[in-house]
Amino acid sequence: MNHPARSFISRESSTTRGRDARSAPRATTGVAAMLRALDVRPSRRLGQNFLSDPRVAERIVAVALGGGAGVGAATAAAGAAAGPPAATAGPILEIGPGLGALTERLAASGRPFVAVELDLRLAEHIETLLRPYPNARVVRGDILDQRLDALLPGTAPVTVVANLPYAITSPAIAWVLEQGPRVARAVLMAQREVAQRLAAKPGTKEHGSFTVFLALHAELNVEFRVSPGAFHPRPDVDSVVFTVMPRPYPGTTPEERAAVERIVRAATGGRRKTLANSLGHGLGIGAERARAILGRAGVDPGRRAETVTVDEWIQVARAEGAAE
Ligand code: SAM
Repeated sequence: MNHPARSFISRESSTTRGRDARSAPRATTGVAAMLRALDVRPSRRLGQNFLSDPRVAERIVAVALGGGAGVGAATAAAGAAAGPPAATAGPILEIGPGLGALTERLAASGRPFVAVELDLRLAEHIETLLRPYPNARVVRGDILDQRLDALLPGTAPVTVVANLPYAITSPAIAWVLEQGPRVARAVLMAQREVAQRLAAKPGTKEHGSFTVFLALHAELNVEFRVSPGAFHPRPDVDSVVFTVMPRPYPGTTPEERAAVERIVRAATGGRRKTLANSLGHGLGIGAERARAILGRAGVDPGRRAETVTVDEWIQVARAEGAAE
Protein backbone atom coordinates (compact mmCIF):
# COMPACT_ATOMS: atom_id res chain seq x y z
CA MET A 1 0.00 0.00 0.00
CA ASN A 2 1.36 3.43 -0.84
CA HIS A 3 0.13 6.16 1.43
CA PRO A 4 1.16 9.81 1.74
CA ALA A 5 1.90 9.24 5.43
CA ARG A 6 4.86 7.10 4.45
CA SER A 7 6.57 10.09 2.87
CA PHE A 8 7.19 11.49 6.35
CA ILE A 9 9.59 8.76 7.10
CA SER A 10 12.23 6.45 5.89
CA ARG A 11 13.10 3.12 7.37
CA GLU A 12 15.49 3.99 10.21
CA SER A 13 19.00 3.89 8.82
CA SER A 14 20.58 2.05 11.71
CA THR A 15 19.33 -1.50 11.87
CA THR A 16 19.35 -2.37 15.55
CA ARG A 17 18.41 -0.78 18.84
CA GLY A 18 21.90 0.73 19.05
CA ARG A 19 24.91 -1.54 19.31
CA ASP A 20 24.12 -4.79 20.97
CA ALA A 21 25.61 -7.90 22.40
CA ARG A 22 25.03 -10.25 19.51
CA SER A 23 28.58 -11.51 19.88
CA ALA A 24 28.35 -11.91 23.67
CA PRO A 25 28.66 -15.37 25.22
CA ARG A 26 25.50 -17.39 24.85
CA ALA A 27 23.10 -17.69 27.74
CA THR A 28 21.88 -21.18 28.49
CA THR A 29 18.22 -20.57 29.23
CA GLY A 30 15.24 -18.61 27.93
CA VAL A 31 15.46 -16.78 24.63
CA ALA A 32 18.98 -17.94 23.80
CA ALA A 33 18.04 -21.56 24.35
CA MET A 34 14.90 -21.19 22.22
CA LEU A 35 16.93 -19.63 19.43
CA ARG A 36 19.41 -22.48 19.57
CA ALA A 37 16.63 -25.06 19.56
CA LEU A 38 15.12 -23.39 16.48
CA ASP A 39 18.57 -22.92 14.93
CA VAL A 40 17.85 -19.22 14.48
CA ARG A 41 20.46 -16.49 14.68
CA PRO A 42 18.88 -13.11 15.53
CA SER A 43 18.74 -10.89 12.46
CA ARG A 44 19.81 -7.26 12.76
CA ARG A 45 17.94 -6.39 9.58
CA LEU A 46 14.69 -7.63 11.10
CA GLY A 47 15.31 -5.86 14.42
CA GLN A 48 15.28 -9.11 16.33
CA ASN A 49 15.87 -8.03 19.91
CA PHE A 50 13.59 -10.49 21.65
CA LEU A 51 11.87 -9.70 24.92
CA SER A 52 13.29 -12.03 27.54
CA ASP A 53 11.73 -10.64 30.74
CA PRO A 54 8.29 -12.19 31.36
CA ARG A 55 7.32 -9.42 33.79
CA VAL A 56 7.68 -6.84 31.03
CA ALA A 57 5.66 -9.05 28.70
CA GLU A 58 2.91 -9.26 31.31
CA ARG A 59 2.86 -5.48 31.77
CA ILE A 60 2.58 -4.89 28.02
CA VAL A 61 -0.24 -7.40 27.70
CA ALA A 62 -2.00 -5.83 30.69
CA VAL A 63 -1.97 -2.45 28.93
CA ALA A 64 -3.11 -4.06 25.66
CA LEU A 65 -6.00 -5.91 27.23
CA GLY A 66 -7.08 -2.82 29.11
CA GLY A 67 -6.14 -3.93 32.59
CA GLY A 68 -3.46 -1.29 33.22
CA ALA A 69 0.26 -1.94 33.50
CA GLY A 70 0.07 -3.96 36.73
CA VAL A 71 1.48 -7.46 36.70
CA GLY A 72 -1.58 -8.99 38.35
CA ALA A 73 -4.00 -8.02 35.60
CA ALA A 74 -1.68 -9.34 32.94
CA THR A 75 -1.18 -12.59 34.73
CA ALA A 76 -4.92 -13.08 34.84
CA ALA A 77 -5.21 -12.24 31.15
CA ALA A 78 -2.36 -14.55 30.29
CA GLY A 79 -3.77 -17.51 32.09
CA ALA A 80 -5.28 -19.81 29.53
CA ALA A 81 -5.41 -22.27 32.35
CA ALA A 82 -6.84 -19.72 34.75
CA GLY A 83 -10.39 -19.92 33.43
CA PRO A 84 -12.54 -19.18 30.39
CA PRO A 85 -11.11 -16.45 28.18
CA ALA A 86 -12.77 -13.05 28.09
CA ALA A 87 -14.03 -12.71 24.52
CA THR A 88 -15.87 -9.47 25.09
CA ALA A 89 -13.51 -6.99 23.49
CA GLY A 90 -12.34 -6.52 19.91
CA PRO A 91 -9.71 -8.36 17.88
CA ILE A 92 -5.97 -8.10 18.41
CA LEU A 93 -3.20 -7.78 15.81
CA GLU A 94 0.38 -8.47 16.82
CA ILE A 95 3.17 -7.19 14.60
CA GLY A 96 6.32 -9.33 14.70
CA PRO A 97 5.54 -12.01 17.29
CA GLY A 98 9.12 -13.32 17.14
CA LEU A 99 9.54 -16.14 19.62
CA GLY A 100 6.15 -15.41 21.13
CA ALA A 101 6.95 -13.41 24.29
CA LEU A 102 3.60 -11.61 24.00
CA THR A 103 1.79 -13.89 21.60
CA GLU A 104 0.40 -16.68 23.74
CA ARG A 105 -0.70 -14.26 26.42
CA LEU A 106 -2.62 -12.28 23.81
CA ALA A 107 -4.13 -15.35 22.13
CA ALA A 108 -5.21 -16.65 25.52
CA SER A 109 -7.54 -13.65 25.85
CA GLY A 110 -9.90 -15.56 23.52
CA ARG A 111 -10.28 -12.53 21.28
CA PRO A 112 -9.82 -12.91 17.50
CA PHE A 113 -6.05 -12.74 17.10
CA VAL A 114 -3.69 -12.42 14.13
CA ALA A 115 0.09 -12.25 14.31
CA VAL A 116 2.05 -11.05 11.26
CA GLU A 117 5.67 -12.27 11.11
CA LEU A 118 8.13 -11.66 8.30
CA ASP A 119 10.71 -14.25 9.40
CA LEU A 120 9.45 -17.58 8.07
CA ARG A 121 11.42 -19.60 10.63
CA LEU A 122 9.72 -17.74 13.47
CA ALA A 123 6.31 -17.79 11.78
CA GLU A 124 6.44 -21.58 11.80
CA HIS A 125 7.32 -21.58 15.50
CA ILE A 126 4.42 -19.21 16.24
CA GLU A 127 2.05 -21.40 14.24
CA THR A 128 2.91 -24.31 16.52
CA LEU A 129 2.54 -22.10 19.59
CA LEU A 130 -0.92 -20.95 18.47
CA ARG A 131 -2.26 -24.42 17.63
CA PRO A 132 -4.27 -24.70 20.88
CA TYR A 133 -6.04 -21.37 20.18
CA PRO A 134 -8.82 -21.59 17.57
CA ASN A 135 -9.23 -17.80 17.76
CA ALA A 136 -5.64 -17.23 16.61
CA ARG A 137 -3.61 -17.48 13.42
CA VAL A 138 -0.30 -16.36 11.99
CA VAL A 139 0.19 -14.54 8.69
CA ARG A 140 3.58 -14.72 6.99
CA GLY A 141 4.68 -11.43 5.47
CA ASP A 142 5.69 -7.81 5.86
CA ILE A 143 3.21 -5.85 7.96
CA LEU A 144 3.69 -2.85 5.68
CA ASP A 145 2.22 -4.85 2.78
CA GLN A 146 -0.92 -5.88 4.69
CA ARG A 147 -4.36 -4.36 4.99
CA LEU A 148 -6.01 -4.59 8.38
CA ASP A 149 -9.42 -5.25 6.81
CA ALA A 150 -7.98 -8.32 5.09
CA LEU A 151 -6.20 -9.57 8.21
CA LEU A 152 -9.22 -9.09 10.47
CA PRO A 153 -12.41 -8.67 8.43
CA GLY A 154 -15.36 -7.00 10.13
CA THR A 155 -15.95 -3.73 11.88
CA ALA A 156 -14.89 -4.39 15.47
CA PRO A 157 -12.20 -1.97 16.64
CA VAL A 158 -8.79 -3.60 16.71
CA THR A 159 -5.99 -3.37 19.28
CA VAL A 160 -2.53 -3.49 17.72
CA VAL A 161 0.34 -4.77 19.85
CA ALA A 162 4.03 -4.80 18.94
CA ASN A 163 7.55 -4.80 20.19
CA LEU A 164 8.48 -2.97 17.03
CA PRO A 165 11.43 -3.99 14.89
CA TYR A 166 13.74 -0.95 14.96
CA ALA A 167 14.13 -0.64 11.20
CA ILE A 168 10.40 -0.05 10.66
CA THR A 169 9.40 1.82 13.81
CA SER A 170 8.07 4.95 12.10
CA PRO A 171 6.64 3.18 9.00
CA ALA A 172 4.82 0.75 11.29
CA ILE A 173 3.27 3.61 13.27
CA ALA A 174 2.28 5.27 10.00
CA TRP A 175 0.79 1.94 8.88
CA VAL A 176 -1.30 1.81 12.05
CA LEU A 177 -2.62 5.32 11.38
CA GLU A 178 -3.33 4.51 7.72
CA GLN A 179 -5.78 1.81 8.77
CA GLY A 180 -8.20 4.54 9.85
CA PRO A 181 -10.88 4.10 12.51
CA ARG A 182 -10.54 0.29 12.51
CA VAL A 183 -7.65 0.70 14.99
CA ALA A 184 -8.91 1.54 18.47
CA ARG A 185 -5.41 1.76 19.86
CA ALA A 186 -1.90 0.47 19.47
CA VAL A 187 0.29 -0.59 22.38
CA LEU A 188 3.83 -0.38 21.06
CA MET A 189 7.38 -0.69 22.29
CA ALA A 190 10.23 1.17 20.62
CA GLN A 191 13.63 2.57 21.39
CA ARG A 192 13.35 5.43 23.88
CA GLU A 193 14.81 8.01 21.47
CA VAL A 194 12.12 7.17 18.93
CA ALA A 195 9.35 7.54 21.51
CA GLN A 196 10.85 10.87 22.60
CA ARG A 197 10.76 12.05 19.00
CA LEU A 198 7.11 11.10 18.74
CA ALA A 199 6.18 13.04 21.88
CA ALA A 200 8.60 15.94 21.34
CA LYS A 201 7.49 19.47 22.13
CA PRO A 202 7.89 22.18 19.45
CA GLY A 203 11.25 23.92 19.74
CA THR A 204 13.11 20.82 20.89
CA LYS A 205 15.58 19.17 18.56
CA GLU A 206 13.52 15.96 18.47
CA HIS A 207 10.45 17.80 17.15
CA GLY A 208 10.06 17.04 13.45
CA SER A 209 7.54 16.42 10.70
CA PHE A 210 6.67 12.96 12.04
CA THR A 211 5.85 14.47 15.44
CA VAL A 212 3.36 16.81 13.75
CA PHE A 213 1.98 13.98 11.60
CA LEU A 214 1.37 11.84 14.68
CA ALA A 215 -0.28 14.69 16.60
CA LEU A 216 -2.61 15.32 13.64
CA HIS A 217 -3.86 11.73 13.71
CA ALA A 218 -3.48 10.36 17.23
CA GLU A 219 -2.90 10.90 20.91
CA LEU A 220 0.15 9.36 22.47
CA ASN A 221 0.51 8.10 26.01
CA VAL A 222 3.84 6.91 27.39
CA GLU A 223 3.26 3.87 29.61
CA PHE A 224 6.60 2.75 31.02
CA ARG A 225 10.30 2.39 30.33
CA VAL A 226 12.07 -0.92 29.69
CA SER A 227 15.78 -1.44 30.34
CA PRO A 228 18.15 -3.14 27.86
CA GLY A 229 18.45 -6.15 30.18
CA ALA A 230 14.89 -7.18 29.27
CA PHE A 231 15.99 -8.20 25.73
CA HIS A 232 18.15 -10.75 24.00
CA PRO A 233 20.33 -9.77 22.27
CA ARG A 234 20.72 -6.91 24.71
CA PRO A 235 20.43 -3.49 23.03
CA ASP A 236 22.48 -0.47 24.10
CA VAL A 237 19.56 1.78 24.85
CA ASP A 238 16.35 1.86 26.87
CA SER A 239 13.00 1.18 25.25
CA VAL A 240 9.61 2.68 26.01
CA VAL A 241 6.12 1.21 25.87
CA PHE A 242 3.54 3.71 24.65
CA THR A 243 -0.06 3.75 23.50
CA VAL A 244 -1.19 5.40 20.27
CA MET A 245 -4.89 6.26 20.15
CA PRO A 246 -5.89 7.29 16.63
CA ARG A 247 -8.18 10.31 16.44
CA PRO A 248 -8.41 13.28 14.07
CA TYR A 249 -6.91 16.50 15.51
CA PRO A 250 -9.88 18.29 17.12
CA GLY A 251 -11.58 20.93 15.01
CA THR A 252 -9.92 20.01 11.71
CA THR A 253 -11.28 18.60 8.47
CA PRO A 254 -9.59 15.80 6.48
CA GLU A 255 -8.65 18.39 3.84
CA GLU A 256 -7.00 20.62 6.43
CA ARG A 257 -5.03 17.71 7.89
CA ALA A 258 -3.88 16.73 4.40
CA ALA A 259 -2.85 20.34 3.73
CA VAL A 260 -0.88 20.48 6.99
CA GLU A 261 0.92 17.24 6.07
CA ARG A 262 1.83 18.65 2.66
CA ILE A 263 3.01 21.99 4.06
CA VAL A 264 5.02 20.49 6.94
CA ARG A 265 6.71 18.09 4.54
CA ALA A 266 7.57 20.98 2.25
CA ALA A 267 8.85 23.21 5.04
CA THR A 268 10.94 20.74 7.00
CA GLY A 269 12.82 18.83 4.32
CA GLY A 270 15.74 21.11 3.51
CA ARG A 271 18.44 23.01 5.33
CA ARG A 272 16.96 26.49 5.03
CA LYS A 273 16.81 28.17 8.40
CA THR A 274 13.82 30.49 8.36
CA LEU A 275 10.26 29.39 7.89
CA ALA A 276 9.69 31.87 5.05
CA ASN A 277 12.64 30.45 3.10
CA SER A 278 11.96 26.78 3.75
CA LEU A 279 8.23 27.09 3.06
CA GLY A 280 8.76 29.27 -0.01
CA HIS A 281 11.29 26.83 -1.41
CA GLY A 282 9.40 23.67 -0.39
CA LEU A 283 6.11 24.82 -1.90
CA GLY A 284 7.83 26.40 -4.90
CA ILE A 285 6.15 29.76 -4.26
CA GLY A 286 9.17 31.83 -3.21
CA ALA A 287 9.96 33.46 0.11
CA GLU A 288 7.81 36.57 -0.50
CA ARG A 289 4.55 34.66 -0.97
CA ALA A 290 5.44 32.37 1.91
CA ARG A 291 5.99 35.45 4.10
CA ALA A 292 2.54 36.73 3.17
CA ILE A 293 0.88 33.40 4.04
CA LEU A 294 2.73 33.21 7.35
CA GLY A 295 1.74 36.81 8.09
CA ARG A 296 -1.94 36.00 7.54
CA ALA A 297 -1.53 32.95 9.81
CA GLY A 298 0.05 35.08 12.54
CA VAL A 299 3.29 33.08 12.48
CA ASP A 300 6.65 34.91 12.49
CA PRO A 301 8.35 34.09 9.15
CA GLY A 302 11.79 34.33 10.81
CA ARG A 303 11.18 31.32 13.04
CA ARG A 304 12.54 27.86 12.40
CA ALA A 305 10.10 25.21 11.19
CA GLU A 306 10.70 22.90 14.17
CA THR A 307 9.38 25.55 16.59
CA VAL A 308 5.92 25.72 14.95
CA THR A 309 3.08 24.10 16.91
CA VAL A 310 0.36 21.93 15.37
CA ASP A 311 -2.22 24.69 15.92
CA GLU A 312 0.06 27.15 14.10
CA TRP A 313 0.57 24.74 11.18
CA ILE A 314 -3.21 24.48 10.91
CA GLN A 315 -3.43 28.29 10.73
CA VAL A 316 -0.73 28.28 8.01
CA ALA A 317 -2.66 25.64 6.04
CA ARG A 318 -5.86 27.70 6.31
CA ALA A 319 -4.04 30.89 5.26
CA GLU A 320 -2.52 29.07 2.30
CA GLY A 321 -5.94 27.68 1.32
CA ALA A 322 -7.50 31.15 1.54
CA ALA A 323 -4.72 32.54 -0.68
CA GLU A 324 -5.46 30.16 -3.55
N1 SAM B 1 7.45 -9.71 19.73
C1 SAM B 1 8.71 -10.39 19.95
C2 SAM B 1 9.26 -10.03 21.30
O1 SAM B 1 8.75 -9.08 21.92
O2 SAM B 1 10.20 -10.68 21.74
C3 SAM B 1 9.72 -10.03 18.86
C4 SAM B 1 10.06 -8.57 18.75
S1 SAM B 1 11.43 -8.23 17.67
C5 SAM B 1 11.87 -6.64 18.27
C6 SAM B 1 10.64 -7.79 16.13
C7 SAM B 1 9.96 -8.92 15.39
O3 SAM B 1 9.36 -8.38 14.21
C8 SAM B 1 10.87 -10.02 14.92
O4 SAM B 1 10.26 -11.26 15.16
C9 SAM B 1 11.02 -9.78 13.41
O5 SAM B 1 11.28 -10.97 12.68
C10 SAM B 1 9.67 -9.20 13.09
N2 SAM B 1 9.64 -8.32 11.90
C11 SAM B 1 10.64 -7.53 11.43
N3 SAM B 1 10.22 -6.81 10.38
C12 SAM B 1 8.92 -7.14 10.18
C13 SAM B 1 7.93 -6.74 9.23
N4 SAM B 1 8.22 -5.82 8.29
N5 SAM B 1 6.69 -7.29 9.29
C14 SAM B 1 6.40 -8.20 10.24
N6 SAM B 1 7.30 -8.63 11.18
C15 SAM B 1 8.54 -8.11 11.15
